Amino acid sequence: MMNVAVVGSGYVGLVAGTCFAELGHKVACVDNDPKKLETLAGGGIPIYEPGLEQMVAKNVKRGRLSFTADLADAVRGAEVVFIAVGTPPGEDGAADLTYVNQVGAQIADALDAFKVIVMKSTVPIGTCDGLTRLIGAKTDQPFAVVSNPEFLREGVAINDFMRPDRIVVGASDERAIATMRKLYRPLTRGGAKLLLMDVRSSEMTKYASNSMLATRISFMNEIANLCERVGADVENVRRGMGSDSRIGRQFLRAGVGFGGSCFPKDVRALLQTAHDNGATLGILDATVKANVAQKSKLVEVVKQDLGDDLTGRQFALWGLAFKPETDDMREAPSIPLVEGLLAAGAEIVAYDPQAHETARVVFGDRITYAEDPYACLEGADGLLMITEWAEFTSPDWERVWAMMRRPAVYDGRNLWDPRELLGMGFSYRGIGRRG
Ligand code: NAD
Repeated sequence: MMNVAVVGSGYVGLVAGTCFAELGHKVACVDNDPKKLETLAGGGIPIYEPGLEQMVAKNVKRGRLSFTADLADAVRGAEVVFIAVGTPPGEDGAADLTYVNQVGAQIADALDAFKVIVMKSTVPIGTCDGLTRLIGAKTDQPFAVVSNPEFLREGVAINDFMRPDRIVVGASDERAIATMRKLYRPLTRGGAKLLLMDVRSSEMTKYASNSMLATRISFMNEIANLCERVGADVENVRRGMGSDSRIGRQFLRAGVGFGGSCFPKDVRALLQTAHDNGATLGILDATVKANVAQKSKLVEVVKQDLGDDLTGRQFALWGLAFKPETDDMREAPSIPLVEGLLAAGAEIVAYDPQAHETARVVFGDRITYAEDPYACLEGADGLLMITEWAEFTSPDWERVWAMMRRPAVYDGRNLWDPRELLGMGFSYRGIGRRG
């Protein structure tokens, strides 16, 4: 058992803190958002993440997990202090380190003995060295800063944390390395790989990994667009490519572009790092351009069918969150899509199993939020598939058909079988598909 403090109780901090408690450590999660703390104190959780609420409740009950606004107290009671605050994009695209530096300064003020300070947030290369200087200038107490980027995916975060492909640790201090090995021992005993490396390589590993995944998505989206022109079907191409063990199956799905709280921001931040260091990342540059174009693709497709003026047209949107199993709307492809359709005069009735509250922050009452998927369809001129929640996989197509004014399906995730829909008399447009 180790005493752990986690500063920042958002997606990453709350999942990491709860999982460390589940692994037997004693964890204090810190946040400075009183609303979040109030929710957590009341037994709720401020985000939607499958399985998390139960795991939080269990560990709180066992006395291994607590929540507090008192950072100094949490730090003093801990051997290991995680920083898991947000690193949102600044105006130039570079990661904004305001929260990280604020927390670093507060930790420095609270230090009373040797602590390992672990950077879980995604931070530009060199940030941990900068933080070492910042904290060192404020305290005489011994400490070591370690990089330990997080690779969890929202929606399957607990599984990703508990069964990681790898745990990356960037550290040079021997005591800190021993602490990190001990902390993760419950996972490495079960076979998880802990990859030890220097701090800067660890920081770079996170950005390079997300950039590679984003690039695969943009690459496949461009291949899909070409498939449409040459009469190929990207779903067949994907199967053919993914069967090559050198390529692998993951992240080859064409769609409406990547979004979320990580890919767009991390790609932009790495591009800015390259720029600041006089380097060129031409491939990554193209990844961003392809993604921007892809996010408005369905609007273009709808306009090809119905003309540029969509006044009086109504569209049903299935899915708003940037991916299934989350309520996260950050940089969701639904945003430019909805804005594009609204700008052309259309009306939108949307349904998402979890994201209405978060979507309301973005769209307000400019769109209508339906109670269930079918309630969107009454009088619709098109059904747009945006987020491939499992519940959308096999709809009652007869019912869909009966409710729509114009039975047209725009399948932004290639979720459905075009032949089945065309056979029923729907018009079908997917991404890079042959009808
Ligand atoms: P988030 O916005 O959900 O959570 C950050 C939390 O930090 C918030 O609850 C906020 O109130 C709190 N906070 C901010 N300043 C604070 C302070 N001074 N003291 C105490 N608490 C403070 O962010 P997130 O999605 O958890 O991301 C955190 C970091 O992890 C980012 O760098 C992100 O890039 C990275 N990351 C995120 C994911 C993901 O899927 N969300 C995955 C891997 C890595």
